[in-house]
Amino acid sequence: MNQNIDQALQKIELSKKAISEAELILADLLGKDVVEKVNEVIPVTETTPPRTDLKCYLCGSKVYDNRPNKRSGQYKPKAPDFTCSNNNDCSGMVQGDTRMLRKSWWLDSKDLPQEWIKTVVPPISAEDTVDVTGSDEEIHPFDK
Ligand SMILES: [Zn+2]
Repeated sequence: MNQNIDQALQKIELSKKAISEAELILADLLGKDVVEKVNEVIPVTETTPPRTDLKCYLCGSKVYDNRPNKRSGQYKPKAPDFTCSNNNDCSGMVQGDTRMLRKSWWLDSKDLPQEWIKTVVPPISAEDTVDVTGSDEEIHPFDK
């Protein structure tokens, strides 16, 4: 009886081995292994491309999206996720240890415009939208 169980277990082990060997061969052929490894390193939530269209709401200067550089290790993990490019007269600049620091935002900053970390959705063309301003009476005739 026990011998039979052992034999069965051995067969399972063998088939497992065969499956993982087959997976390796497939991965080699398809390059799937590489894709899976990349997905492991970069969480899905961080695959949005860097924003290049951001403007500081305090001074109107371009804002750098540092997230890709943080991800690649070029910047320290504690580096700001967004930095205003204005190193001169932005009202958001703060006094650092030795010099004035540019206005910066982290993903958990309360004053981070949430719009910046959303995926950009292409604007809907005017033809597809309905202008509802000033037409309340037409839309809600029963409220009167
Ligand atoms: Zn600024």
